[in-house]
Amino acid sequence: MKKEKEIREIFKTHFEKEGTMYASAGRINLIGEHTDYNGGFVFPGAIDKYIMAEIAPNGTDHVRIYSIDMNEPASFGLEETDIPNAQWVKYIFGVCREIIKRGGQVRGFDAVFAGDIPLGAGLSSSAALESCFAYALNDLFNENKIDKFELARIGQSTEHNYCGVNCGIMDQFASIFGKKGYLMRLDCRSMDFEYYPFNPEGYKLVLVDSVVKHELVDSPYNKRRESCERVARTLGVETLRDADMDMLDSHKQEISEEDYRRARFVIGEKQRVLDVCDALERGDYETVGKRMYETHEGLSQDYEVSCEELDFLNAIAKECGVTGSRIMGGGFGGCTINLVKDNLYDNFINTAKTKFTKQYGHEPKIYDVVISDGAHKCN
Ligand code: ADP
Ligand code: MG
Repeated sequence: MKKEKEIREIFKTHFEKEGTMYASAGRINLIGEHTDYNGGFVFPGAIDKYIMAEIAPNGTDHVRIYSIDMNEPASFGLEETDIPNAQWVKYIFGVCREIIKRGGQVRGFDAVFAGDIPLGAGLSSSAALESCFAYALNDLFNENKIDKFELARIGQSTEHNYCGVNCGIMDQFASIFGKKGYLMRLDCRSMDFEYYPFNPEGYKLVLVDSVVKHELVDSPYNKRRESCERVARTLGVETLRDADMDMLDSHKQEISEEDYRRARFVIGEKQRVLDVCDALERGDYETVGKRMYETHEGLSQDYEVSCEELDFLNAIAKECGVTGSRIMGGGFGGCTINLVKDNLYDNFINTAKTKFTKQYGHEPKIYDVVISDGAHKCN
Protein backbone atom coordinates (compact mmCIF):
# COMPACT_ATOMS: atom_id res chain seq x y z
CA MET A 1 0.00 0.00 0.00
CA LYS A 2 1.17 3.48 -0.93
CA LYS A 3 0.98 4.83 2.59
CA GLU A 4 3.25 2.19 4.11
CA LYS A 5 6.33 4.42 3.93
CA GLU A 6 4.47 7.30 5.51
CA ILE A 7 3.29 5.04 8.35
CA ARG A 8 6.89 3.98 9.06
CA GLU A 9 8.18 7.54 8.98
CA ILE A 10 5.49 8.91 11.24
CA PHE A 11 5.85 6.01 13.66
CA LYS A 12 9.56 6.71 13.92
CA THR A 13 9.16 10.45 14.53
CA HIS A 14 6.24 9.98 16.89
CA PHE A 15 7.56 7.13 19.02
CA GLU A 16 11.32 7.12 18.27
CA LYS A 17 11.48 3.38 17.63
CA GLU A 18 10.30 0.76 15.17
CA GLY A 19 7.35 -1.58 15.45
CA THR A 20 5.81 -4.44 13.52
CA MET A 21 3.61 -3.79 10.49
CA TYR A 22 0.21 -5.51 10.17
CA ALA A 23 -2.50 -5.21 7.54
CA SER A 24 -6.04 -6.31 6.94
CA ALA A 25 -8.28 -5.88 3.94
CA GLY A 26 -11.63 -4.58 2.83
CA ARG A 27 -13.99 -7.01 1.11
CA ILE A 28 -16.45 -7.55 -1.69
CA ASN A 29 -19.30 -10.04 -1.81
CA LEU A 30 -19.62 -11.55 -5.28
CA ILE A 31 -23.07 -13.04 -4.75
CA GLY A 32 -25.34 -14.15 -1.88
CA GLU A 33 -27.25 -11.09 -0.73
CA HIS A 34 -29.81 -11.00 2.12
CA THR A 35 -29.03 -14.67 2.65
CA ASP A 36 -27.19 -14.42 5.99
CA TYR A 37 -30.29 -14.05 8.15
CA ASN A 38 -31.97 -16.82 6.17
CA GLY A 39 -29.30 -19.35 7.10
CA GLY A 40 -27.92 -19.33 3.56
CA PHE A 41 -24.58 -18.68 1.86
CA VAL A 42 -22.51 -15.58 1.26
CA PHE A 43 -19.54 -15.46 -1.09
CA PRO A 44 -17.05 -12.78 -0.09
CA GLY A 45 -13.38 -12.18 -0.74
CA ALA A 46 -10.76 -9.78 0.62
CA ILE A 47 -9.59 -7.04 -1.74
CA ASP A 48 -6.35 -5.15 -2.43
CA LYS A 49 -7.41 -2.21 -0.26
CA TYR A 50 -6.14 -2.20 3.27
CA ILE A 51 -5.78 -0.80 6.72
CA MET A 52 -2.12 -0.96 7.74
CA ALA A 53 -0.81 -0.38 11.23
CA GLU A 54 2.66 -0.29 12.71
CA ILE A 55 2.49 -1.36 16.33
CA ALA A 56 4.94 -1.83 19.21
CA PRO A 57 4.39 -2.68 22.89
CA ASN A 58 5.23 0.31 25.11
CA GLY A 59 5.60 -1.33 28.52
CA THR A 60 2.71 0.64 30.08
CA ASP A 61 -1.01 -0.03 30.50
CA HIS A 62 -1.87 2.65 27.99
CA VAL A 63 -2.61 2.58 24.29
CA ARG A 64 -1.35 5.51 22.20
CA ILE A 65 -2.45 5.69 18.57
CA TYR A 66 -2.10 8.10 15.72
CA SER A 67 -4.51 7.98 12.79
CA ILE A 68 -2.85 9.41 9.68
CA ASP A 69 -6.10 9.66 7.74
CA MET A 70 -7.95 11.44 10.54
CA ASN A 71 -4.81 13.44 11.34
CA GLU A 72 -5.51 12.83 15.00
CA PRO A 73 -3.86 11.19 18.01
CA ALA A 74 -5.76 9.30 20.71
CA SER A 75 -5.00 7.39 23.87
CA PHE A 76 -6.83 5.29 26.42
CA GLY A 77 -6.02 3.14 29.43
CA LEU A 78 -6.56 -0.60 29.24
CA GLU A 79 -8.48 -0.48 32.53
CA GLU A 80 -10.90 2.14 31.21
CA THR A 81 -14.44 1.08 30.36
CA ASP A 82 -15.89 4.38 29.09
CA ILE A 83 -16.27 4.24 25.31
CA PRO A 84 -14.14 6.95 23.60
CA ASN A 85 -15.91 9.76 21.73
CA ALA A 86 -14.07 9.63 18.43
CA GLN A 87 -15.61 7.04 16.11
CA TRP A 88 -12.33 5.62 14.79
CA VAL A 89 -10.99 5.11 18.33
CA LYS A 90 -14.08 3.08 19.28
CA TYR A 91 -13.07 0.29 16.91
CA ILE A 92 -9.60 -0.10 18.45
CA PHE A 93 -10.86 0.35 22.00
CA GLY A 94 -13.60 -2.23 21.33
CA VAL A 95 -11.15 -4.79 19.98
CA CYS A 96 -8.98 -4.41 23.11
CA ARG A 97 -12.00 -4.76 25.42
CA GLU A 98 -13.35 -7.78 23.56
CA ILE A 99 -9.99 -9.58 23.72
CA ILE A 100 -9.72 -8.89 27.45
CA LYS A 101 -13.35 -9.98 27.97
CA ARG A 102 -12.47 -13.36 26.44
CA GLY A 103 -9.55 -13.83 28.80
CA GLY A 104 -6.92 -12.75 26.27
CA GLN A 105 -3.96 -10.46 26.94
CA VAL A 106 -3.63 -6.88 25.86
CA ARG A 107 -0.76 -4.77 27.14
CA GLY A 108 0.04 -1.16 26.39
CA PHE A 109 1.09 -0.39 22.82
CA ASP A 110 1.87 2.43 20.42
CA ALA A 111 0.42 2.42 16.92
CA VAL A 112 0.28 4.49 13.75
CA PHE A 113 -2.15 3.46 11.04
CA ALA A 114 -3.67 4.47 7.71
CA GLY A 115 -5.79 2.94 4.99
CA ASP A 116 -6.97 3.16 1.39
CA ILE A 117 -10.41 1.56 1.72
CA PRO A 118 -13.05 4.18 0.96
CA LEU A 119 -15.04 4.85 4.13
CA GLY A 120 -18.71 3.95 4.18
CA ALA A 121 -18.76 2.81 0.54
CA GLY A 122 -19.73 -0.76 1.40
CA LEU A 123 -16.20 -2.22 1.34
CA SER A 124 -16.10 -2.64 5.12
CA SER A 125 -13.31 -0.32 6.13
CA SER A 126 -14.49 -0.73 9.73
CA ALA A 127 -14.11 -4.52 9.62
CA ALA A 128 -10.62 -4.10 8.16
CA LEU A 129 -9.69 -1.77 11.01
CA GLU A 130 -10.98 -4.21 13.64
CA SER A 131 -9.39 -7.19 11.94
CA CYS A 132 -6.02 -5.49 11.59
CA PHE A 133 -5.83 -4.72 15.31
CA ALA A 134 -7.37 -8.02 16.43
CA TYR A 135 -4.84 -9.92 14.32
CA ALA A 136 -1.94 -7.78 15.54
CA LEU A 137 -2.83 -8.02 19.24
CA ASN A 138 -3.20 -11.77 18.91
CA ASP A 139 0.29 -11.94 17.42
CA LEU A 140 1.93 -9.48 19.82
CA PHE A 141 0.39 -10.51 23.12
CA ASN A 142 -1.35 -13.89 22.73
CA GLU A 143 1.13 -16.06 20.80
CA ASN A 144 -1.59 -16.35 18.12
CA LYS A 145 -3.62 -18.58 20.43
CA ILE A 146 -6.94 -16.90 19.63
CA ASP A 147 -8.29 -18.76 16.62
CA LYS A 148 -9.20 -16.88 13.48
CA PHE A 149 -12.96 -17.30 13.85
CA GLU A 150 -12.73 -15.80 17.32
CA LEU A 151 -10.78 -12.86 15.87
CA ALA A 152 -13.65 -12.27 13.45
CA ARG A 153 -16.14 -12.48 16.34
CA ILE A 154 -14.06 -9.96 18.30
CA GLY A 155 -14.52 -7.52 15.39
CA GLN A 156 -18.23 -8.30 15.13
CA SER A 157 -18.75 -7.83 18.90
CA THR A 158 -16.89 -4.52 18.64
CA GLU A 159 -19.47 -3.31 16.12
CA HIS A 160 -22.33 -4.56 18.33
CA ASN A 161 -21.09 -3.36 21.71
CA TYR A 162 -19.15 -0.16 20.98
CA CYS A 163 -20.45 1.16 17.66
CA GLY A 164 -24.16 0.30 17.74
CA VAL A 165 -24.01 -1.63 14.45
CA ASN A 166 -25.85 -4.93 14.61
CA CYS A 167 -23.91 -6.64 11.81
CA GLY A 168 -23.44 -10.27 10.85
CA ILE A 169 -20.06 -12.01 10.68
CA MET A 170 -19.35 -11.83 6.93
CA ASP A 171 -17.25 -8.64 6.82
CA GLN A 172 -14.88 -9.57 9.62
CA PHE A 173 -14.76 -13.17 8.40
CA ALA A 174 -13.69 -12.05 4.92
CA SER A 175 -11.15 -9.57 6.24
CA ILE A 176 -9.52 -12.20 8.47
CA PHE A 177 -9.72 -15.31 6.25
CA GLY A 178 -9.29 -13.68 2.83
CA LYS A 179 -6.77 -15.32 0.52
CA LYS A 180 -5.26 -14.04 -2.72
CA GLY A 181 -7.05 -15.50 -5.74
CA TYR A 182 -9.84 -17.11 -3.71
CA LEU A 183 -13.39 -16.28 -2.73
CA MET A 184 -14.99 -17.99 0.24
CA ARG A 185 -18.38 -19.59 0.40
CA LEU A 186 -19.50 -19.16 3.96
CA ASP A 187 -22.45 -21.14 5.24
CA CYS A 188 -24.14 -18.68 7.60
CA ARG A 189 -25.84 -21.47 9.52
CA SER A 190 -23.03 -23.92 10.22
CA MET A 191 -20.21 -21.36 9.79
CA ASP A 192 -18.42 -23.89 7.57
CA PHE A 193 -16.59 -22.37 4.65
CA GLU A 194 -14.74 -23.33 1.55
CA TYR A 195 -12.28 -21.49 -0.70
CA TYR A 196 -13.09 -21.23 -4.42
CA PRO A 197 -10.51 -20.08 -6.98
CA PHE A 198 -11.26 -16.69 -8.44
CA ASN A 199 -8.77 -15.70 -11.14
CA PRO A 200 -10.82 -14.04 -13.84
CA GLU A 201 -8.07 -13.67 -16.39
CA GLY A 202 -9.13 -11.26 -19.10
CA TYR A 203 -11.72 -9.66 -16.83
CA LYS A 204 -11.65 -6.88 -14.29
CA LEU A 205 -13.71 -6.61 -11.16
CA VAL A 206 -14.83 -3.02 -10.68
CA LEU A 207 -17.16 -1.29 -8.27
CA VAL A 208 -19.20 1.67 -9.38
CA ASP A 209 -20.25 3.72 -6.37
CA SER A 210 -23.45 5.72 -6.88
CA VAL A 211 -22.51 7.82 -3.82
CA VAL A 212 -26.15 7.84 -2.78
CA LYS A 213 -27.63 6.32 0.35
CA HIS A 214 -31.38 6.54 0.64
CA GLU A 215 -32.48 6.65 4.25
CA LEU A 216 -35.85 4.98 4.47
CA VAL A 217 -38.29 5.61 7.25
CA ASP A 218 -40.10 2.31 7.65
CA SER A 219 -37.13 0.02 8.35
CA PRO A 220 -37.24 -2.03 5.14
CA TYR A 221 -34.56 -4.35 6.45
CA ASN A 222 -36.68 -5.54 9.37
CA LYS A 223 -39.68 -5.89 7.08
CA ARG A 224 -37.73 -8.14 4.72
CA ARG A 225 -36.62 -10.26 7.65
CA GLU A 226 -40.19 -10.56 8.91
CA SER A 227 -41.44 -11.63 5.47
CA CYS A 228 -38.80 -14.36 5.31
CA GLU A 229 -39.60 -15.60 8.80
CA ARG A 230 -43.33 -15.62 8.06
CA VAL A 231 -42.87 -17.70 4.91
CA ALA A 232 -40.50 -20.09 6.69
CA ARG A 233 -43.15 -20.67 9.39
CA THR A 234 -45.83 -21.29 6.75
CA LEU A 235 -43.58 -23.81 5.00
CA GLY A 236 -42.73 -25.46 8.33
CA VAL A 237 -38.97 -24.94 7.98
CA GLU A 238 -36.47 -23.30 10.31
CA THR A 239 -35.22 -20.80 7.71
CA LEU A 240 -35.71 -20.33 3.96
CA ARG A 241 -32.39 -22.11 3.54
CA ASP A 242 -34.39 -25.31 3.94
CA ALA A 243 -36.99 -24.41 1.33
CA ASP A 244 -37.10 -24.88 -2.43
CA MET A 245 -39.32 -23.46 -5.16
CA ASP A 246 -41.65 -26.48 -5.21
CA MET A 247 -42.34 -26.08 -1.50
CA LEU A 248 -42.95 -22.39 -1.93
CA ASP A 249 -45.32 -22.94 -4.84
CA SER A 250 -47.28 -25.61 -3.01
CA HIS A 251 -48.05 -23.05 -0.27
CA LYS A 252 -48.63 -20.13 -2.60
CA GLN A 253 -52.29 -19.72 -1.59
CA GLU A 254 -51.37 -19.19 2.07
CA ILE A 255 -48.74 -16.54 1.37
CA SER A 256 -49.25 -12.89 0.46
CA GLU A 257 -48.12 -11.84 -3.00
CA GLU A 258 -45.39 -9.68 -1.49
CA ASP A 259 -44.05 -12.35 0.87
CA TYR A 260 -44.06 -14.79 -2.03
CA ARG A 261 -41.76 -12.55 -4.04
CA ARG A 262 -39.45 -11.99 -1.06
CA ALA A 263 -39.11 -15.74 -0.53
CA ARG A 264 -38.69 -16.39 -4.25
CA PHE A 265 -35.66 -14.11 -4.22
CA VAL A 266 -34.05 -15.78 -1.18
CA ILE A 267 -34.61 -19.31 -2.47
CA GLY A 268 -33.31 -18.32 -5.91
CA GLU A 269 -30.28 -16.63 -4.38
CA LYS A 270 -29.26 -19.77 -2.53
CA GLN A 271 -29.25 -21.68 -5.82
CA ARG A 272 -27.38 -18.89 -7.62
CA VAL A 273 -24.52 -19.05 -5.08
CA LEU A 274 -24.24 -22.80 -5.62
CA ASP A 275 -24.31 -22.31 -9.40
CA VAL A 276 -21.52 -19.74 -9.17
CA CYS A 277 -19.41 -22.19 -7.16
CA ASP A 278 -19.82 -24.82 -9.87
CA ALA A 279 -19.07 -22.28 -12.56
CA LEU A 280 -15.88 -21.13 -10.82
CA GLU A 281 -14.62 -24.67 -10.62
CA ARG A 282 -14.91 -24.77 -14.42
CA GLY A 283 -13.50 -21.24 -14.80
CA ASP A 284 -16.79 -20.30 -16.46
CA TYR A 285 -17.04 -16.56 -15.77
CA GLU A 286 -19.85 -16.04 -18.27
CA THR A 287 -22.19 -18.08 -16.06
CA VAL A 288 -20.94 -16.19 -13.00
CA GLY A 289 -21.92 -12.97 -14.77
CA LYS A 290 -25.38 -14.23 -15.72
CA ARG A 291 -26.13 -15.13 -12.11
CA MET A 292 -24.99 -11.67 -11.02
CA TYR A 293 -27.53 -10.06 -13.35
CA GLU A 294 -30.23 -12.41 -12.05
CA THR A 295 -29.39 -11.40 -8.50
CA HIS A 296 -29.74 -7.75 -9.44
CA GLU A 297 -33.08 -8.41 -11.08
CA GLY A 298 -34.29 -10.29 -8.01
CA LEU A 299 -33.08 -7.64 -5.59
CA SER A 300 -34.77 -4.98 -7.68
CA GLN A 301 -38.08 -6.62 -8.63
CA ASP A 302 -38.76 -9.28 -6.00
CA TYR A 303 -36.92 -8.08 -2.92
CA GLU A 304 -37.36 -4.38 -3.76
CA VAL A 305 -34.18 -3.12 -2.18
CA SER A 306 -32.73 -1.38 -5.23
CA CYS A 307 -33.13 2.27 -6.17
CA GLU A 308 -33.27 4.31 -9.35
CA GLU A 309 -29.55 5.07 -9.39
CA LEU A 310 -28.47 1.43 -8.99
CA ASP A 311 -30.92 0.19 -11.60
CA PHE A 312 -29.58 2.90 -13.90
CA LEU A 313 -25.98 1.70 -13.40
CA ASN A 314 -27.04 -1.90 -13.92
CA ALA A 315 -28.77 -1.00 -17.19
CA ILE A 316 -25.65 0.83 -18.43
CA ALA A 317 -23.55 -2.25 -17.63
CA LYS A 318 -25.93 -4.38 -19.68
CA GLU A 319 -25.83 -1.96 -22.62
CA CYS A 320 -22.03 -1.94 -22.56
CA GLY A 321 -21.84 -5.73 -22.70
CA VAL A 322 -20.49 -6.10 -19.16
CA THR A 323 -20.41 -9.79 -18.21
CA GLY A 324 -22.05 -9.44 -14.78
CA SER A 325 -23.40 -6.55 -12.70
CA ARG A 326 -25.44 -6.25 -9.56
CA ILE A 327 -26.08 -4.23 -6.43
CA MET A 328 -23.60 -5.10 -3.73
CA GLY A 329 -24.71 -4.87 -0.12
CA GLY A 330 -28.06 -4.31 1.55
CA GLY A 331 -29.37 -1.98 -1.14
CA PHE A 332 -30.98 1.48 -1.41
CA GLY A 333 -27.66 2.95 -2.55
CA GLY A 334 -23.95 2.23 -2.50
CA CYS A 335 -22.12 0.32 -5.21
CA THR A 336 -22.71 -2.07 -8.05
CA ILE A 337 -20.12 -4.80 -8.50
CA ASN A 338 -19.20 -5.51 -12.11
CA LEU A 339 -17.30 -8.26 -13.88
CA VAL A 340 -16.03 -6.67 -17.10
CA LYS A 341 -13.97 -7.99 -19.99
CA ASP A 342 -10.67 -6.09 -20.22
CA ASN A 343 -11.42 -4.77 -23.71
CA LEU A 344 -14.82 -3.37 -22.67
CA TYR A 345 -13.61 -1.78 -19.46
CA ASP A 346 -12.72 1.72 -20.72
CA ASN A 347 -15.93 2.13 -22.64
CA PHE A 348 -18.02 0.93 -19.68
CA ILE A 349 -16.36 3.28 -17.18
CA ASN A 350 -16.57 6.29 -19.50
CA THR A 351 -20.18 5.60 -20.42
CA ALA A 352 -21.18 5.05 -16.78
CA LYS A 353 -19.49 8.29 -15.71
CA THR A 354 -20.97 10.37 -18.50
CA LYS A 355 -24.52 9.05 -18.39
CA PHE A 356 -24.76 8.90 -14.61
CA THR A 357 -23.42 12.43 -14.20
CA LYS A 358 -25.84 13.74 -16.80
CA GLN A 359 -28.77 12.06 -15.05
CA TYR A 360 -27.92 12.64 -11.38
CA GLY A 361 -25.57 15.63 -11.36
CA HIS A 362 -22.59 13.92 -9.75
CA GLU A 363 -19.96 11.45 -10.89
CA PRO A 364 -20.01 7.89 -9.61
CA LYS A 365 -16.77 6.72 -8.00
CA ILE A 366 -14.84 3.85 -9.55
CA TYR A 367 -12.90 1.27 -7.53
CA ASP A 368 -10.93 -1.48 -9.27
CA VAL A 369 -10.43 -4.43 -6.98
CA VAL A 370 -8.33 -7.59 -7.03
CA ILE A 371 -9.03 -10.51 -4.69
CA SER A 372 -6.17 -10.49 -2.20
CA ASP A 373 -4.90 -11.66 1.18
CA GLY A 374 -6.77 -10.73 4.35
CA ALA A 375 -5.17 -10.07 7.75
CA HIS A 376 -1.40 -10.64 7.88
CA LYS A 377 1.90 -9.52 9.30
CA CYS A 378 3.92 -7.49 6.81
CA ASN A 379 7.50 -7.76 8.00
P1 ADP B 1 -17.65 0.83 6.06
O1 ADP B 1 -18.77 0.36 5.19
O2 ADP B 1 -16.53 1.37 5.25
O3 ADP B 1 -17.24 -0.19 7.06
P2 ADP B 1 -18.44 2.20 8.45
O4 ADP B 1 -19.25 3.40 8.66
O5 ADP B 1 -18.89 0.92 9.05
O6 ADP B 1 -18.25 2.07 6.87
O7 ADP B 1 -16.97 2.44 8.98
C1 ADP B 1 -16.27 3.62 8.67
C2 ADP B 1 -15.56 4.09 9.92
O8 ADP B 1 -14.41 3.27 10.16
C3 ADP B 1 -15.02 5.50 9.78
O9 ADP B 1 -15.98 6.46 10.16
C4 ADP B 1 -13.83 5.48 10.75
O10 ADP B 1 -14.26 5.69 12.05
C5 ADP B 1 -13.33 4.04 10.62
N1 ADP B 1 -12.24 4.00 9.61
C6 ADP B 1 -12.24 3.34 8.44
N2 ADP B 1 -11.11 3.50 7.76
C7 ADP B 1 -10.34 4.33 8.51
C8 ADP B 1 -9.05 4.91 8.34
N3 ADP B 1 -8.32 4.69 7.24
N4 ADP B 1 -8.59 5.70 9.33
C9 ADP B 1 -9.31 5.93 10.44
N5 ADP B 1 -10.54 5.41 10.65
C10 ADP B 1 -11.07 4.63 9.70
MG1 MG C 1 -18.55 -1.02 8.50
